[in-house]
Amino acid sequence: PTTASASSLKSTPKLPLDAALIKKDFPILQETVNGKPLIWLDNAATTQKPKLVIDRLSYFYEHENSNIHRAAHELAARATDAYEAAREKVRAFLNAASTNEIVFVRGATEAINLVAKSFGEQFINAGDEIIVSHLEHHANIVPWQQLAQKKGARLRVIPVDDDGQVILEEYVKLLNSRTKLVSFTQVSNALGTVTPAKQIVELAHQIGAKVLVDGAQSVSHMSVDVRYLNADFFVFSGHKVFGPTGIGVVYGKEDLLNQIQPWQGGGNMIKDVTFERTVYHPAPSRFEAGTGNIADAVGLGAAIDYVTGLGMNLIYQYEHQLLHYATQLLKDIPGLRLVGTAPDKASVLSFTLKGHTNDEVGQALNKEGIAVRTGHHCAQPILRRFGLESTVRPSLAFYNTCADIDTLVETLYRLQHKK
Ligand code: PLP
Repeated sequence: PTTASASSLKSTPKLPLDAALIKKDFPILQETVNGKPLIWLDNAATTQKPKLVIDRLSYFYEHENSNIHRAAHELAARATDAYEAAREKVRAFLNAASTNEIVFVRGATEAINLVAKSFGEQFINAGDEIIVSHLEHHANIVPWQQLAQKKGARLRVIPVDDDGQVILEEYVKLLNSRTKLVSFTQVSNALGTVTPAKQIVELAHQIGAKVLVDGAQSVSHMSVDVRYLNADFFVFSGHKVFGPTGIGVVYGKEDLLNQIQPWQGGGNMIKDVTFERTVYHPAPSRFEAGTGNIADAVGLGAAIDYVTGLGMNLIYQYEHQLLHYATQLLKDIPGLRLVGTAPDKASVLSFTLKGHTNDEVGQALNKEGIAVRTGHHCAQPILRRFGLESTVRPSLAFYNTCADIDTLVETLYRLQHKK
């Protein structure tokens, strides 16, 4: 199965990271599956956790566990310090201006729902328009659809071209004085397209609309600067950036966060309560009602330390080369149709293989210890744009090696030859 393009790529430039060495930091990547070393290529669904993150969680529960902000005792101080230190790590990771702009939530889904239920409920009215792109994950469609239905607003969609990139000229045509919000993904989870986020934000701001950027698939693959992007809101999930599940982030510009009403009420988020009225804290507390996911926020902080220690720019360069390597090899496989061919892509390779159902491909890969996602990837509209209900989706991270890709490709060739 090895082709000329494969061997020439392998001998090309020195790779910026030593993925084989990095793999050793991840205990689960030492697992075997069906007697084969695990090859984790389901990174767009969730990423694996380095030992440092797992240890940080244990340390929290062994030495720091307490509720935060509320007590006079030592452990409350330790837990509060750890939680607020994690918030500072997120701030620096996104280059936000202040920790007041960083709200902890359960994940990207909850983050988008928070914006829909707080900003959306308050500022979007009958006749207003919300724009999303055709690439969106269901998490960035359904909350806006629900809001639009409730308010009598209209959801409009930026179309994509045959490579799976948003068509900016069509986007510009959608913008008008009724547009109140543009909400779009920085990287598509189904195709890997990297959208021209800065331009999309700028164009929305020119007509006075606010912008939410869904960073669920971007923060683990490239460095993100929310001040450069100038997004009003930016959201992501901890588990997709080598941190724990159950923790995520809403970044929002501080002025804006303080203008909008909280979506949930309870403890922690209030300054003063009487039976007649409640005075809320300023952001971020006003959006963190009740006891949050303290330990996992701390774990996310450790994950951010880990990736920034490797260097987001090196991660980007390495993954770019790996994606190119994989793309060249997959393209040569007879009957393989790659979906999502935009020049600017990250991590994701979505394909179908002629003569096999996607489930058959997924199962054949699983037999070799290779984990990929098959299905609609919670992004049905974009797959249907390409006439598909599902694809096979290997997705890369910096711990994947050229050898992982070779095993994937060899297994696909073998499967083709069996036909
Ligand atoms: N947005 C995008 C682009 C995603 O890929 C995902 C998850 O796959 C989400 C949002 C939702 O993330 P979560 O399920 O962690 O809330």
